[in-house]
Amino acid sequence: SNFARTQAIQTISQRSPMDLGKTDPLSKIWACDVFNLARMEECLSKNAFKAMKKTFQTGAMLDPATADVVAAAMKEWAMSKGAKFFSHIFYPMTNATAEKHDGFIITSPEGNAITDFSGSLLIKGEPDGSSFPNGSIRATNSARGYTAWDPTSPAYIMHTANGATLMIPCVFLSWTGEALDKKIPLLRSNAAMNTAAQRVLKLMGETDVATLNSSCGAEQEYFLIDEAFATARPDILLSGRSLFGAAPAKGQQFDDHYFGAIPERVQVYMQDIEDKLYRLGIPAKTHHNEVAPGQFEIAPYFEAANVAADHQQLLMTVMKTTAKAHGFLCMLHEKPFAGVNGSGKHVNWSVGNSTQGNLLDPGQTPEENLHFLAFCGAVIRGVHLFGPLLRAVIASASNDHRLGANEAPPAILSVYLGDQLEQVFNDIKAGKILKTEKGGHMDLGLSQILKFERDPGDRNRTSPFAFTGNRFEFRAVGSSQSVSGPLIAMNTMLADSLHWVADKLEAELNSGKDVATATLAVLKTLMEQHGNAVFGGNGYSPDWHKAAVEERGLKNLPTSADALPELLSPEIASLFERTGVLTPAELYSRFEVYAEQYINSIDVEAKLMVNMATTMIYPAAVTYLSELAATAGNLQDLGITLDNSVASSVATEANALMVAVGKLSAARAKHDFDSVKDHMTFLAGTVRDLMTEVRAHADTLETLIADEMWPLPKYSEMLFIK
Ligand code: ADP
Ligand code: MG
Repeated sequence: SNFARTQAIQTISQRSPMDLGKTDPLSKIWACDVFNLARMEECLSKNAFKAMKKTFQTGAMLDPATADVVAAAMKEWAMSKGAKFFSHIFYPMTNATAEKHDGFIITSPEGNAITDFSGSLLIKGEPDGSSFPNGSIRATNSARGYTAWDPTSPAYIMHTANGATLMIPCVFLSWTGEALDKKIPLLRSNAAMNTAAQRVLKLMGETDVATLNSSCGAEQEYFLIDEAFATARPDILLSGRSLFGAAPAKGQQFDDHYFGAIPERVQVYMQDIEDKLYRLGIPAKTHHNEVAPGQFEIAPYFEAANVAADHQQLLMTVMKTTAKAHGFLCMLHEKPFAGVNGSGKHVNWSVGNSTQGNLLDPGQTPEENLHFLAFCGAVIRGVHLFGPLLRAVIASASNDHRLGANEAPPAILSVYLGDQLEQVFNDIKAGKILKTEKGGHMDLGLSQILKFERDPGDRNRTSPFAFTGNRFEFRAVGSSQSVSGPLIAMNTMLADSLHWVADKLEAELNSGKDVATATLAVLKTLMEQHGNAVFGGNGYSPDWHKAAVEERGLKNLPTSADALPELLSPEIASLFERTGVLTPAELYSRFEVYAEQYINSIDVEAKLMVNMATTMIYPAAVTYLSELAATAGNLQDLGITLDNSVASSVATEANALMVAVGKLSAARAKHDFDSVKDHMTFLAGTVRDLMTEVRAHADTLETLIADEMWPLPKYSEMLFIK
């Protein structure tokens, strides 16, 4: 019956925007729940604070005595905020976070409750990690996994309705020291990038070079639908997307939702999450409507990559949990509604330090221009050599619905530089940019050329990887994904390329060239070898898809079944090994985990489809048919003949639906695959095709069956009723 669906609409018609009361001023709430450097300065001794600050800024080891002092101060602060528990929070190889909560409490022999939190409890925890995916790493070693405090990401308080918990960001590793999470490789990739960047900058004549760090600002797209609708849709609840649903009459044809007025209930929800984020020290900066109806975006200001990655996870958690209180379901799935624009997560990335500034910013002086060209060139080489890696780190069953479809960046990785910068690199390649002297000073003239106008130059939305004035924007990342994988890949490929640049630069300098001439010579070679990755045209066009592969030698990896096995290529294994970011075993375990996630998510969807088609959609068709049949019979008694074309269409589609369901069930039962790759390929091809077939019949039935008999909330309802 359609009881749940009508009930949902009734529930929603009673809703009003949540009353948040008057919100506190930013100055009062900003980072009030974070144990950050400012707070530490207040409550730590001078020496302890100095040690902490150094660790925070450079990643230097913290001595155990200081850790004890920090732990004591952290506990005092957390308890003063009402926390009775603490938790190590870590980032396993899923896109989610994991926690283990412990009380501060211990009892004295006299039976009094006292509290305890030593440096060693702060530094190390031992969750029962056996339930987290680890590939084959721990099967061969031990079931134990450890969490260890990451002092470079600040601890914070998470409030619930009836309590508060001190959350301590951690790495997660096996007892043999192998990375079981996404944080360890991110920290390592950052360190590798720093080492290589130091080399290049010193060769370029810089004497004072502070530690380099990568930065990340992530734009998060999402959908909001009313929770009451979600409750009536098992597919949305269990797989995060609608497996069925006919296109609404009013779709997104008019694009009138983009930057349009935000409905009040949504606005109040956004304010609520933003206040929560501010308390957690997350700099939420912009929010607006997105392309599709019901779709929105939130973007915090950029931060150091490691902190940004933790904050991004926290942001997704806050968005999901806060939505409940407002009667919404926050959907982070990449393609919740077929035929409607999907959701991505643009990962804006740059590298820099306090002495040279942002190395991906062309800057004002010829020296800055030269640094910029070297780093930008290194990125171009990285994308050319490791495009398949960039494709693999964004591979998932859900993101496959976007990539390759004509709405999101294509599954071919190329770099968009913008007309002016592309011209500069082409001129370098052609040997046309030379060092000139102006008034005794070197002049590359780039500060004039590279006055980037952000519009419309960088508005090539069809590129998966675009230069946007002072950073690169990796746009093919999926909305539900952790930003760590992309950041690890970008930092690591940059580290490798900067070493290549440094080697070449060293040789040129040794041959007696000055820095500018040597750098331009290196970049000329770089462009000759790797310029094929630069593409400024329309990434959606079929011509490009053909030319990219046939003329440029780039790889087109349309599905995760094509992309994930790239992680096993010798080039990528060697990249991670020589930069010290992942051992071959750590890399292999990641392939296993991501492949398993891919297989599981498609299998869950296929199973859900079979269930819903059999128990909800087919019965609706049969009920309608029996009503039509009864009516036709009754009318016949009166001598009236009812046209039976609808009934026969419903019958035809219902039969076809069940035939397709049968084929899908049979496909699900197949288990004899020669390899994981074969299994993935089967799911990406045969199974997904059968799912499309099942869906086509179900969606046709939705357009035939009486509205009041249709059990599932319709697209028009979910997308437009708020
Ligand atoms: P757009 O929609 O034009 O792409 P937004 O302002 O929505 O831009 O988002 C841009 C994101 O890029 C923000 O998170 C911003 O803080 C971030 N960003 C800006 N400069 C840098 C930089 N140098 N490095 C990394 N991220 C940056
Ligand atoms: Mg953007």
